[in-house]
Amino acid sequence: MKKIQMVDLQGQYEQIKETVNTSIQEVLNTSSYINGPLVHEFQADLEKYLDVKHVIPCANGTDALQIAMMGLGLEQGDEVITADFTFAATVEVIALLKLTPVLVDVDKNTFNIDIEALKKAITPKTKAIVPVHLFGQVANMDAVMGIAKQYNLFVIEDNAQAIGANYTFKNGKKQKAGTIGNVGTTSFFPSKNLGCYGDGGAIFTNDDELAHTLRGIVNHGMYTRYYHDVVGVNSRLDSIQAGVLKAKLPLLDSYCNARRNAARFYNNAFSNNPNIITPTTKSNATNSCGEICDVCDCHVFHQYTLQITNGKRDELHKHLLDKGIPNAIYYPVALHAQKAYQDSRYKESDFPVTNELIKTVISLPMHTELEKEQLEFITETINQFIK
Ligand SMILES: *Cc1c(COP(=O)(O)O)cnc(C)c1O
Repeated sequence: MKKIQMVDLQGQYEQIKETVNTSIQEVLNTSSYINGPLVHEFQADLEKYLDVKHVIPCANGTDALQIAMMGLGLEQGDEVITADFTFAATVEVIALLKLTPVLVDVDKNTFNIDIEALKKAITPKTKAIVPVHLFGQVANMDAVMGIAKQYNLFVIEDNAQAIGANYTFKNGKKQKAGTIGNVGTTSFFPSKNLGCYGDGGAIFTNDDELAHTLRGIVNHGMYTRYYHDVVGVNSRLDSIQAGVLKAKLPLLDSYCNARRNAARFYNNAFSNNPNIITPTTKSNATNSCGEICDVCDCHVFHQYTLQITNGKRDELHKHLLDKGIPNAIYYPVALHAQKAYQDSRYKESDFPVTNELIKTVISLPMHTELEKEQLEFITETINQFIK
């Protein structure tokens, strides 16, 4: 059996070596390293894939969030609501821009922003909601968009983990994750579902005016060369990374399917284990996939995350490492409990779900190259240890 990897970038590269190498060579041949033709070609390809009017490439997913918030004109003191259970980048940029982060609890089935908690957190100062499509599953966007409309709030989708996912609205309409809110952001960090070989990111919007503003902000606030109309940043996707992404984008749907197939294998293997909760899209009952859907296209399984309910999560983590099975705890600390983001407004009783999840979750190897033999070994090892 091949050594099991948490994410098998090498194995994936072997499959696409020729196209990726050709793409990179094209950049080397033209020495057009910044803003080269491949950046524009990738941008156009991604706009088509996502069916969105504007893709604005940038340097990474954290910048994408920051630039999106700058572009919306959010100001110091404006409250921005996001999930307590996510990667810190989401809340980091809110704080960095001197906006006020307001963390709320998540749903226990989807790990995404809890709709009741979100409603309760709205005040007259609230200006925006940042749903994070955590672990590859789209948040309940019917509800988020409904609330945003009711209270006149911006929606910034943090789509770093869910590129390629489809959201089906109650009325049957389908839209790609990241293109539903006023603006969406993503990351092309190597281990993300569409990863480059360095850092990269992008912003998506259907709003022409906002797109224009964002294109200036990523480029030092310039709309005409050497005329700086607004304070901007320097955030670019370089041409080599765009070349890698252009080569990989046509494979994204097959990559999503490979991940779903692995998820299906895991789900089946753990379905009778009383101490394991497998990821479901159950509380996305708004989805056309129905009341309970197991593995469907609203989830692209950036992570495959179990809840271990018998208190043995930490023991399992060590046991698997001893057996050569990589695994990870995403995330071990709730954001409201992080030193940088503590706030006297928060009470522990505001976060019952997140406080439970940080003790029970464990993410298993998940990538496009998992083999049946590996999946069998992983699931058997876990079912023997957690009974
Ligand atoms: C990875 C990630 C980011 C940040 O992306 P970078 O490209 O690493 O800056 C932001 N939000 C979430 C949810 C992420 O997973």
